[in-house]
Amino acid sequence: MPRRGRPAASGSDGRALSATPDGTDGLLGPAAIRSLAQQLDLRPTKQLGQNFLHDANTIRRIVRTAELRADDVVVEIGPGLGSLTLGLLPAAASVTAVEIDPRLAEQLPRTVAERTPALADRLSVVTADALRVTELPGAAPTALVANLPYNISVPVLLHWLERFPSIRTALVLVQLEVAERLAAAPGSDAYGVPSVKAAWYADVRRAGGVGRPVFWPVPNVDSGLVRLTRREPPPGDRRATFAAVDAAFATRRKGLRAALGGWAGSPAAAETRLRAAGIDPTWRGERLSVADFARLAATDAVAAG
Ligand code: SAM
Repeated sequence: MPRRGRPAASGSDGRALSATPDGTDGLLGPAAIRSLAQQLDLRPTKQLGQNFLHDANTIRRIVRTAELRADDVVVEIGPGLGSLTLGLLPAAASVTAVEIDPRLAEQLPRTVAERTPALADRLSVVTADALRVTELPGAAPTALVANLPYNISVPVLLHWLERFPSIRTALVLVQLEVAERLAAAPGSDAYGVPSVKAAWYADVRRAGGVGRPVFWPVPNVDSGLVRLTRREPPPGDRRATFAAVDAAFATRRKGLRAALGGWAGSPAAAETRLRAAGIDPTWRGERLSVADFARLAATDAVAAG
């Protein structure tokens, strides 16, 4: 309910949001998070990566950085108590929230109905393990926005990019170290398997850091935002390319000739295939771009063997 003295925030189609005297515009601040957690008798677990956002400015920043269009069909992985969900609803056509914890999944529609009733019909909740979801009800998702559970952030992200090609953009909040890895360029220290695999699907860039105090409970690691914009993958087969990537980084200190010996059948066969792809066999995996790996995977295993 808009209060006197503050203009009501409005959604992408002008539908009014609740404006509150504490400046949270219906978003969940520390007191609301505490009270919801008490109501549900919720003890956040590390296993499920349950660190909830309770800072309205951070939520607004995440939503702004996601650069959503009014017709976007958003999927949010792990909505938790609804902090980010409430920020996303005004900015998109719909939000499908996928939550593994049934208590949180059941509460979410109630929280949205209470705090932003005019937008409640935009929300769908799916109670499931996001790593196992292969289809969603309704229109195909066009954007993924999430404060991801940190222990499974990379596999979840890669799973959704693979399974839902309709996802055009993603904005994810992850552990800072993971943000650095995801967005790392070939040759840099942080470059590794997550960097190459994410680059198969998208242009990936860092989109700023997020401090610890905006979460409850306060995590013992820093966090960072990563924005992904889908692009055409390099020519070649994804599975074959990812197998070469996994092999190349399994023994990081070795040159590619030795590291890819098992993958190719022998170090000599690896050398033949590396040369066929125009890659120096003495290099290490860190130097190869995703296009290099795709070219390598496409070389002829029979001719090399
Ligand atoms: N989005 C909320 C926020 O920003 O406050 C919560 C984010 S919290 C870092 C991660 C959320 O993901 C939790 O709600 C947790 O229960 C949920 N979660 C953990 N593992 C999951 C999985 N495999 N599938 C779906 N949700 C999961």
